[in-house]
Order: sequence, then C-alpha cells, then structure tokens
Amino acid sequence: MAHLFFDLDRTLWHHEGNHRIFFEELHADLGWNSYGTSAQFAQCYLAINDRLWDHIQNHNLGVEYVRARRFALLFSEMGVDKGSPKSLRERTKDCESRLKKRLPDLGQGYDGAADALEELRQGGHQLHLITNGVSEPQERKVAALGLSQFFTVSMTSDRAGAYKPSPEIFTAALREAGAHPQESWMIGDSLLRDVLGGQGVGMRTAWFHAEDAIDPDAQAIPDLEFRHWRTFADLLNRAIGQ
Ligand SMILES: [Mg+2]
Repeated sequence: MAHLFFDLDRTLWHHEGNHRIFFEELHADLGWNSYGTSAQFAQCYLAINDRLWDHIQNHNLGVEYVRARRFALLFSEMGVDKGSPKSLRERTKDCESRLKKRLPDLGQGYDGAADALEELRQGGHQLHLITNGVSEPQERKVAALGLSQFFTVSMTSDRAGAYKPSPEIFTAALREAGAHPQESWMIGDSLLRDVLGGQGVGMRTAWFHAEDAIDPDAQAIPDLEFRHWRTFADLLNRAIGQ
C-alpha cells in the first residue's frame, strides 16, 4: 500500500479546457464579439493568469493579488472599452464574481483518470490531493469531476500557508495523512511544483505529461512519466513493486 498525493489543476482538472468553456459563456453574455473571439479571450486570460500566479507562488502572496489584476489586464490587452475608472472597477468585479460562481463547477477532466483512481483505490492505495489554490473552489472542481469520494486528505496552499514546491505544504499533507515520505508518491503535471517539490521531502514522483500540456517549467527526473491516465495504474504498481 502506498499513499498517493495528486495535483489537481492540469493533472485531473483540465485547466485550459474549462477556461475555454467559461470564456465561451462570458464572451456571449457580455457581447465581446467586436474585440475578438472567445478563444482569443481565453488564451489571453490564461497567459495573464499564469504570469500572475507565478508571481504569487514565487513571493508567497495571497490569491487576492491575482484577482485584483487579471481582468483589468485582460481588458487592456484585448482592447475592451474600459470606460471610467469606476466603471472599469465594477466590470472587473463583475467578471471576477462570474468566474468565482461558474468556473469551479465546470468538470472537464482527462480520459481514463477516474478509472485509474478507482483501480488504485481497489488496489489498497490511499489517495489524497495537494494543490496550490483556495480550498473552496478546489473542492468544487473535484466535485465537478465526480472524484470527491476518492480522496482522504485534501491539502491546499490556502490551508498550508505555503505553495508547492515549498516543503511545508508537503509535510502538512503527509502529517495529516499519517504517511511517511518513503511510502508516498506525488503525481502531477509540473516538474517544478510537483516533481521537484515532492522529491524535496523524500517522496517518489510521477510526472503527468499530457499530449496537450503546456511547456515543462523545470528540469527534473521523476520516477515515472505518463502521457495517458489509462496507462498510469499499471506503471505505478510496477514501480512500487520494484
Ligand atoms: Mg498542476
């Protein structure tokens, strides 16, 4: 039996796919046709959001920093008519509140992930989450994916007061799960945050390298690498048996 700690965004929850759906709805609701397509809005937003998230993760700042800036930057980059400073503030607040209400309830995931988790659970492994994010929306994403029943411990950066790859968030999760690093795996899409972070506290690591993944964010050598969830349970069980 092993303790398996999974990342959420871009590992189980399809970050880009769910944002594309959200921006299709927002684009139609707010009549942004003259400024660009919903796909262009989504792409521009994702780049801005990733940049701001890198900043708060590198400086251990709260998510409010991102929320206060991302839509104003999006309007600016897409050339959306911003109006007066007061109306700009109101419109960005409206977009933030629409995002908060809707995005975490979208449940596009990755083929085969639920089956892999089921197989691993039946194989006697304990499943947990370690995710950089705020607890409430992260829980809703897991529920939208239909995966809530799988996880015992859900550790968020919000609760730990530290982001991956800081050791604090991993040790908080291990402590809560009653798990030793030697019997634990970190599974995620980020070489920097999941693989190097997990290795930093002595966990073994698996790197999810999806076909439509963003570029690798670091150089690292995980214990195993997989591109499709349908191959994961076998690869992991073989690696544990070695
Ligand atoms: Mg991730």
